Amino acid sequence: MPIPLKYTILSFLSLYKSPQNPTKDEEELKCEICLNTSKTSKIINYQGKNICMECYYSLKYPRDPEKMRREIEETLKNTKNNKYSCIMALSGGKDSVVALYLLVKEFKVNPLCVTVDNKYISEEAIENCRRITRYLDVDWMVLNRDFTELFRDTISRGESPCRRCSERIMREVWRIAKMLDIPVIVTGHELPFGTSALKRLEGGVTVVRLLAGYKLTDEERRNILKKLPWKDPKLGGYTTNCLVLAPAIREFYKKYGYSFEFKRICAMVRYGLIDREKALQLLKCPEVPEEIYEELKRRGLDLKH
Ligand SMILES: [Zn+2]
Repeated sequence: MPIPLKYTILSFLSLYKSPQNPTKDEEELKCEICLNTSKTSKIINYQGKNICMECYYSLKYPRDPEKMRREIEETLKNTKNNKYSCIMALSGGKDSVVALYLLVKEFKVNPLCVTVDNKYISEEAIENCRRITRYLDVDWMVLNRDFTELFRDTISRGESPCRRCSERIMREVWRIAKMLDIPVIVTGHELPFGTSALKRLEGGVTVVRLLAGYKLTDEERRNILKKLPWKDPKLGGYTTNCLVLAPAIREFYKKYGYSFEFKRICAMVRYGLIDREKALQLLKCPEVPEEIYEELKRRGLDLKH
């Protein structure tokens, strides 16, 4: 078997290395804050610590949850003349359920919950939506859509379907916001837009990432959920509602050898929202039980032909 070119060049170069520092070029540098290494980001030395560029920017432009919570409050206050102060984009997953809970209990507003059922939400997640909206006594509507093509297309190419899927969901929710003249859409995302929890969309609609106004760790979220009628469907990867995520990560793993959730989970470690151990656990290639593949096939997505 021929030796790959990369290694040939490396061993050739190593003959010419300075003797004082023979392995410096190959040494993998690790960020001391998050999970990035010199393979996944640029590592710099900042105040005596090796850190990645993303962590450097997070130190230079720190997040201020207090400030973000105030801006969220302002935004929600201004819409109180409507029957619904905002739309809550509810997926049934743990983050959007926690966000809905805080929205009702702490901000004391009346949201219209909207779930975009893309045909690949687990039964339990839909049940969780039903239970939580009943429990909090808020209105809930479901849009039935079919994202089979989107998933087939991205997964068969070994790509992450997440960005395209969430863009499409956001478009659907935005349409409802316009139709009903509700100018604010709340989501359960925890990572802000830069240093703000708000993003202005076209048509005068504002998106609010509610959990950016809090600094809730994964454990703290789960503690809130314990008090609520919510059940964990245990689907693998960082999801509690999507049937497609774990199989999609598996396909991506086959192609690239890591999870496409890496950057996001890395950011959660950076902001102290999840501990290192748990993060590394989540970034392993997920085991996907045969039943999940069968369920996907039954819904129209055959990943095993
Ligand atoms: Zn870092």
